[in-house]
Amino acid sequence: MDGCIFCSIVAGGAPAHTIYSDNDTIAFMDINPATDGHALVIPRTHVRDLWEIDEDEAARVMAATVRVAAQIRRALEPDGMNVLHATGSAAFQTVYHFHLHVIPRYFNDPIKLPWVPRPGDRTKIAQMAEKIVAAAG
Ligand code: AMP
Ligand code: ZN
Repeated sequence: MDGCIFCSIVAGGAPAHTIYSDNDTIAFMDINPATDGHALVIPRTHVRDLWEIDEDEAARVMAATVRVAAQIRRALEPDGMNVLHATGSAAFQTVYHFHLHVIPRYFNDPIKLPWVPRPGDRTKIAQMAEKIVAAAG
């Protein structure tokens, strides 16, 4: 798509450190890495977010992510790994071409859990579940 930086990377028009590539996906290093080895896995075809990607495409991106995670593990021997996705600016999405962040984690890294886990209101949890179940497609 015109004006999409990730489409430009796929087309070879913008520079990137590509670490993985197959028929449907590529993975490259994030230019603002959260930790050493932070990479992004994207579909080659432009799709905006989790609400637009179809299930088959999402499955292909996830399969590539499993391969990339293993590759990074072999290369960098991190202590753990997070896979992160943002849909919408409310969730911190800044590039509107679907991507999964693959973030190697190290015991001494600076990343913090972005919420404070505390027990929720049981009634409200049940109400949310009821609403979501009622919306099943
Ligand atoms: P998000 O905020 O989840 O949409 O993530 C977008 C990510 O893309 C950010 O972590 C950016 O650092 C990264 N990014 C933006 N432009 C580039 C680029 N040209 N090459 C590599 N990573 C990029
Ligand atoms: Zn794009």
